[in-house]
Amino acid sequence: FFSLAGSDFVEMFVGVGASRVRDLFKEATKQAPCIIFIDEIDAIGKSRDSKYGGGNDEREQTLNQLLAEMDGFDSSKGIFILAATNRPEVLDKALLRPGRLDRRITVDRPDKKGRIETLKVHSKDVLMDDTVDFDEIAMATSGLVGSDLANIINEAAIAAVKNGRNVVTQKDLLGAFDTVVAGKEKKERVLSKKEKQVVAYHEIGHALIRAIKNNSDPVQKITIIPHTNGSLGYVLNFPEEEKHLETKDELMTDLISLVGGRAAEEVVFGSVTNGAYDDIKKATNLAKTMITRYGMSDRFGLVALSTVEDEYLSGRASMNCAQATEAEVDDEVKKLIASCYEEAKQIIRENREVMDQLARYLYDHETITGKEFMKMEAIHQQLVVSQKAIYGRTLVVIQTIMNLMIQLKKKKMINNKGAYHIVICPLYQRLFFSDMCE
Ligand code: ZN
Repeated sequence: FFSLAGSDFVEMFVGVGASRVRDLFKEATKQAPCIIFIDEIDAIGKSRDSKYGGGNDEREQTLNQLLAEMDGFDSSKGIFILAATNRPEVLDKALLRPGRLDRRITVDRPDKKGRIETLKVHSKDVLMDDTVDFDEIAMATSGLVGSDLANIINEAAIAAVKNGRNVVTQKDLLGAFDTVVAGKEKKERVLSKKEKQVVAYHEIGHALIRAIKNNSDPVQKITIIPHTNGSLGYVLNFPEEEKHLETKDELMTDLISLVGGRAAEEVVFGSVTNGAYDDIKKATNLAKTMITRYGMSDRFGLVALSTVEDEYLSGRASMNCAQATEAEVDDEVKKLIASCYEEAKQIIRENREVMDQLARYLYDHETITGKEFMKMEAIHQQLVVSQKAIYGRTLVVIQTIMNLMIQLKKKKMINNKGAYHIVICPLYQRLFFSDMCE
């Protein structure tokens, strides 16, 4: 088994790379049957196209040598070549032709089942008690990769030792998850009374919108304890079951909830803080993705205006449209976020009383779990309030129609003979008109 990194071939001396490739294959032929594994193949296999910074003589020579060696291959030689990279899109096309590196295996982020198995692997040498439920941990860690999961197990073990135990509990694991996601609690940082109030309203703003627009993932935890990653508090939410698709409504709720923190600050305190910078960044990215990649804007329709080139690394999208269109996209992003912000403020104004109760509770307790949050009397009342709000809006509609009819009657555009009934069906929040006028 020959294992080397792509960078092993590259040296400052011209010709060394090519000769190393020759030596490798000579040695491999002698040892056959054998496996050659080249890690980070992009160091030598990068496209010769100038778009990817090609035109490096030494690297090209190394690549040409590699291509030439692989050409002479057949199954009788007994050499098997494997290579790995995070950037398959920059590899030279010639390297990927049939007969060379022609099979591709994608090692993607693990799904729920994958995460459970990964957790089992990393926890083999760690003592766990009966409370441990990997299912719950796997559910919470959607989007994390193997090394993150290993990190969670490690942090949980450290927490157990710190508490003088020799077994890890579910609580340790959940705490470790928080540590990996948001850093450690930074209890020595003392917030002023006013700051703590602002943070409490801010976080409740996020959570309340999620709870009211219940087409989104339930809230799991809200905290206003500062963490080492710089946040003064956060709302944690994760789905009850693994999701592979998200609807436009769910994404819109994410957007409204993201700006909900800032909206709460504005509605409650009349001024805003810099605490929402991360929310703003996330909201902008999400809005831009919805418009340029998911085809969710009426203005641009189903056009891919941006593409992700290195999906296994940063995942950053680059725009591929005219500059004028790009400016329009910025405009559309601004509009989308502004409308979400208005809606967030509206929801918060309508639920101000509940908001105050919840913020007060969070201020006193500093951390509340999703269950506590949903159980709180305030939320039950909230449902009544929101029903009333819908009913209230319906009444406004009826009033408007009545006024309109009176106007029409005055102008003799309708006569008295036509009787009309308006029936409200609260279940569907729709108005049914019958026999309105002749
Ligand atoms: Zn926030």
